[in-house]
Amino acid sequence: MNNVLEIKGLCKRYEGFALENISFTLPQGVVMGFIGENGAGKTTTIKSILNLIRRDVGEIRVLGMDNIHDERAVKERIGVVLEDGGFLNTMNAREVNTLMGKAYQGWRPELFLGYMKRFGIDERKKIKDYSKGMRMKISIASALSHGAELLIMDEPTSGLDPIVRDEVLDLLYDFMQDERHAILLSSHITSDLDKIADCVTFIHAGRIVLSEPRDELLDTYGVLRCTADQLASLDPVAVRAKRIGAFGCEALVRRDGVPIGWPVEPVNIEQIMLFLTRGEDA
Ligand code: ATP
Repeated sequence: MNNVLEIKGLCKRYEGFALENISFTLPQGVVMGFIGENGAGKTTTIKSILNLIRRDVGEIRVLGMDNIHDERAVKERIGVVLEDGGFLNTMNAREVNTLMGKAYQGWRPELFLGYMKRFGIDERKKIKDYSKGMRMKISIASALSHGAELLIMDEPTSGLDPIVRDEVLDLLYDFMQDERHAILLSSHITSDLDKIADCVTFIHAGRIVLSEPRDELLDTYGVLRCTADQLASLDPVAVRAKRIGAFGCEALVRRDGVPIGWPVEPVNIEQIMLFLTRGEDA
């Protein structure tokens, strides 16, 4: 399987914050949920991939190309959706169509205008006059209309109602029908990732703490509620993170390291994120 994205040893230092040695890979055919608390470093990572900021060290390969040396070729083959929709909001859909036609060799006007028709967009109405959800859908449509193989999205569903979020996920499902495609989807909305992500990469305080297939993650880990003595009796390797309260302990545990019969409950992505960001390392 080919990797569409390979990040090795990425570091970027700001005053008071640093991305430290970020490494992960995204294969073809995979939707990767990129998740972490506010300020964890998601946008900084995405901007580094897009070469919108200069990294300190590290290597980033996109579709087999170096993201700096081959920047033009990379841009042609990726679709980008940023949180604010990234749009010149004073434009209308017709003007976006013209502008994108100039920006991308592979731009397909009929595809973009097809999306506009499907969304019921009046091509002459300025994009800023549409709802946030509609602006996001237009933004995604423009990212999908030049034959991109990799979609990079920074919080595309944040602030959208559940119905529009579902419509956005439908667009992503359609895009993933081609098995060469892949999506890097930064999101806080873990229920969206429960629906669509094949693998999950957690970033916390500028470091990758976990990058694994979602199903493996949910199979491997569980939540154990027990006493402090019970927790202390477990093999430390089995305890990934723990929270100790006045009335007992809660731990994110490897199921295979816990004695049979102990009450290990299923875990979801949101709980894993909470444990890895707010729990104590075991
Ligand atoms: P959010 O979910 O809130 O968007 P994030 O995970 O995307 O968070 P980043 O936007 O990557 O986080 O920010 C990581 C840290 O880097 C933050 O503390 C932010 O203040 C800092 N930061 C980002 N850009 C700059 C900059 N240009 N100069 C200095 N610090 C910056």
